Amino acid sequence: MMDIQKIRSQFPILEEKIHGKPLVYFDNGATTQKPLSVINRIENYYTKENANIHRGVHTLSQEATTAYENARNTIQTYIGAQHNHEIIFTKGTTDGINLVANSFGELLKPGDEIIISAMEHHSNIVPWQMLCERKGCKLRIIPMNAKGELELEVFERLLSERTKLVAVTHISNSLGTVNDVEQIIKKSHAVGAKVLIDGAQSIQHIKVDVQALDCDFYVFSGHKLFGPTGIGVLYGKEALLNNMPPYQGGGDMIKEVTLTKTTYNDLPHKFEAGTPNIAGGIGLGTAFEFLNSLNMDDVVAHEQELLNYATQALTKIEGIQFYGEAANKTSVISFLIEGLHPYDVGTLLDKMGIAVRTGHHCTQPVMDQFKIPGTIRASFAIYNTKEEVDIFIKALERIIPILKN
Ligand code: PMP
Repeated sequence: MMDIQKIRSQFPILEEKIHGKPLVYFDNGATTQKPLSVINRIENYYTKENANIHRGVHTLSQEATTAYENARNTIQTYIGAQHNHEIIFTKGTTDGINLVANSFGELLKPGDEIIISAMEHHSNIVPWQMLCERKGCKLRIIPMNAKGELELEVFERLLSERTKLVAVTHISNSLGTVNDVEQIIKKSHAVGAKVLIDGAQSIQHIKVDVQALDCDFYVFSGHKLFGPTGIGVLYGKEALLNNMPPYQGGGDMIKEVTLTKTTYNDLPHKFEAGTPNIAGGIGLGTAFEFLNSLNMDDVVAHEQELLNYATQALTKIEGIQFYGEAANKTSVISFLIEGLHPYDVGTLLDKMGIAVRTGHHCTQPVMDQFKIPGTIRASFAIYNTKEEVDIFIKALERIIPILKN
């Protein structure tokens, strides 16, 4: 098994005190903390290596280019992509989905259908609604049952030769459900539809291999897997990306420009207009090296143990209601306590040094289905411990009578 204390010691922020109390960070679904290796890598880049990439003849520019492209290679290897140019750097998950909605979306025709699910984050809903409005396409929804699982029999009935794209989340950020994306991908391909997987909540929790999944697009954010904010990845199959028009125009994405016509650069540059987040890309490479240093089977086992331990302890709290009880779930507990407003609970937990998230978690349709405005969400990462869960439960036991009186 892993030495969790050794892992914790790599994350300096975990030594911080909030309102005089040791930080218990259970808001990993929103963003994860950063190991010293990532922080140092970014500092070193700005201290000793900073230059613009891809066009300089000078040493610093060449070194920065090599570091940035090495990060791309590290990510390619980690997620099992066939080519490094299938890794497109983006600003994050939202940016990656918007890229596909605008570029792949440009190839769609009126009457074409896109399928998403009822548990998507707003960033995997709104770009498709905007596309449907623009192109006269139809958006169809895979429903979700009361446990927070997708109804895959209904999904099969939604699929037809009109379906051009299926966009679903791998793991739900508000419920923790792990979707059977393998089945979704197989069934979608059987009708000729392409599949985009929203991996914002996945790579930090489970092993992801894009070729084994056979997904067409896979998107994620660096900041949720121990990397910097403002950087993420769109993985896409080479042939698909080659057929898609550019998303944004500008420097770096061109081969030749005249005042009347432009020819576009090859992958991945065709989709990377302008000076990118160079430090972010390099830092993200280092975050993947951190992931490489972990045994993913141990990560899954540890996080499952935490989830079970916390769920069991919470079950004993009077008036607790869980949201998201899928047979296959990970790292997220969403709940309400009868008679208490989640915001008040979150605020008092913060006074005790405990960071949780309250609200709709950018999944308003999920909250609407459960007829609630929001939940209290505790979301775990590899550095969390059972001792922290004990502190969390004790804090809740103190807070509940205060708020009820
Ligand atoms: N999808 C899911 C499932 C998410 O959890 C998030 C972030 N909460 C996003 C998409 C959007 O990610 P970002 O804000 O980093 O673009």
